[in-house]
Formats: sequence, C-alpha cells, structure tokens
Amino acid sequence: MALRLDGKQLAAELEQRLQAEIAAGLVQAGRPPGLAVLRIGDDPASGVYVAHKQKACGRIGVASHLTHLPETVSAAKVLATIQALNIDERVDGILLQLPLPKGLDEGPLLAAIDPEKDADGLHTLNLGRLLKGEPGPRSCTPAGVMALLARHQISLERKRAVVIGRSILVGQPMALMLQAANATVSVAHSHTDDLASLTQQADVLVVAAGRPQMIGSDHVKPGAVVVDVGIHRLPADPELGPQVKARLCGDVRAQEVEPLASALTPVPGGVGPMTVTMLLVNTVARWQQHCGLPFGLRDLLL
Ligand code: NAD
Repeated sequence: MALRLDGKQLAAELEQRLQAEIAAGLVQAGRPPGLAVLRIGDDPASGVYVAHKQKACGRIGVASHLTHLPETVSAAKVLATIQALNIDERVDGILLQLPLPKGLDEGPLLAAIDPEKDADGLHTLNLGRLLKGEPGPRSCTPAGVMALLARHQISLERKRAVVIGRSILVGQPMALMLQAANATVSVAHSHTDDLASLTQQADVLVVAAGRPQMIGSDHVKPGAVVVDVGIHRLPADPELGPQVKARLCGDVRAQEVEPLASALTPVPGGVGPMTVTMLLVNTVARWQQHCGLPFGLRDLLL
C-alpha cells in the first residue's frame, strides 16, 4: 500500500515554521508581511480560493489586503491597481486571482506585477530565474510538490521522472524543478502518443493534465511515486442513488494506483494545501528580503 504524501499535515507544519519566522523578524521589520489579493468578477470558485488564501494569511500573521473589482472593469483600471500595489510599502506579495473574466488578457497584467512582489512566481523574470537556477519566488504548485517529496525523503537523484502536462502554471516549472534536483525528466502533453509506455518508465510520475481520473494502474510502474496535481468536482450521480454525493477527485484513479505505487498524494489533502502554503512562503520570503531580515526559507525555494 502506497505511503500517503499528506499535504494537509505538511502545510500545517510549514505554517508553524512561517509563524516563527514572522515572530522572529517582526520587531526589526516594524510591520507584518502583507499579501495583496486582486480578485476580478464573481466567479464562485475563485471566491472560495481567495477566502482560503485570506484565512491562511490570518492563521500565520500575514496581513491580507483584498481588492475586489467588478467583472466590467477596464484593463487600464486593473493595471493602475497593480501599479499602486507595486509601490504600496505594506505589500510584499501580489496575487492576481485567475482565471480573469472574458475580455481581460492575463499576460500584460501578470507582467505588470513587480517581480519582487510576485507571490505566485509566474512573472516571466521569475520563470527565467527558475530556468537559470537563480533565487526568486517560485511557482506555488510545483514548489509545493517539491516540498512534499523532500519532507518524505524521496530522493530525485538519478531518478526517471515523467510530468504529464506542460502548462506555465504547473507542468513546465515542475519539470525544471525536478531536473534541478537531478532527475531525468520527460514531459508528456496532449500531443504525446502512447502515454502509458512513457509513464511506465517513471520512478516519479507527476500528473497535471486536468483530466479526471485519466491515469490508472496500466500507466504506473510498480513502486513509483505518484503525485496527483489534478483536482475536479465530480457531480452527484442520481443513477447511483442519493448516498453517492458530489466529491472531489484527481487525475489519477487512486484506488487502482494505491496498491501499486510506493507513495501517492491524496485528493483532496495532497498538492492543494501545499499550493496555498507556498504562496505564504513566497510572501514571507519577500518580506524578509524587503525588510533586510535573515532569509530562513531557502530550502523551500530551490
Ligand atoms: P492546463 O489545462 O493549463 O494544462 C493541462 C496540460 O495537460 C496541458 O499541457 C495538456 O497538453 C496536458 N494534457 C491534457 N490532456 C492530456 C492527455 N490526455 N495526455 C497528456 N497530456 C495531456 O492545466 P493546469 O493549469 O496545468 O492544471 C492541471 C490540473 O491541475 C487541473 O486539474 C487543475 O485544476 C489542477 N491544479 C491543481 C492545483 C492544486 O493546487 N492542487 C493547482 C493548479 C492546478
């Protein structure tokens, strides 16, 4: 039976560590770390994510500053808001909650965020820093996966890793981070033929395809470490009776893969909580940098 890579537990441990970092620097800094969250429109899922992030800030002592703009807002107004946050001295991290409403192009808006306040690690400069192995804010989801693997002493040295997905949000930075940890990495995507023959070679398989339950036992080498990034809400099925309620699932058929893998992330409670925690890590790290404090989080931002 696979070891459960429990992201909820590690997130709680890291929150304690962040709290201690904040307590240690608060007097010298003269202010707490600040995260500005910019939400546009009323997408309900985004509302839930923003609420989670604000709650997490509250738990560890990060001041969160929410700006909620209407769906009809102009790109110029969003840009002006970002520019104001860039020079706001209370703010160490800026997060533009995606997806944006139709008609707003995320590219120029993400590019307008000061790279030194890039809480999501998605700015072109910070992706370049990752590519070159230079320090900087890291993309939250892949950095969370790396922290989970490290916490369970899963070495990547000389391992064969396969990442399914090549998005800028997850797949691409994930592949770079695994490679930086000395894994030999292949990236599969929607134009990859015979996916199973590739994934069967993986010692470490990271699945970020956004396809509910697409990966089963036929894709997994016995003993592999399987990281399921996908998250989907399966609706209740009236045909299966009232006892079958709506539930969350990932890109992996966990019941099939669990007996085969050496380790597996659960959904929910695996990668998801780590993504929020890495947002906090990026914010606290920027605060330490902006306030001239010792940098205590290097091991989490490789
Ligand atoms: P995306 O849609 O931008 O990218 C999906 C990638 O998967 C693409 O590169 C595509 O080529 C590839 N792909 C799609 N179908 C494939 C197939 N059949 N075979 C091989 N490759 C295939 O999605 P994303 O933003 O990278 O997110 C991926 C998943 O991760 C989604 O389910 C998303 O909800 C989830 N996610 C979870 C978290 C978290 O915190 N748990 C964070 C970010 C994303």
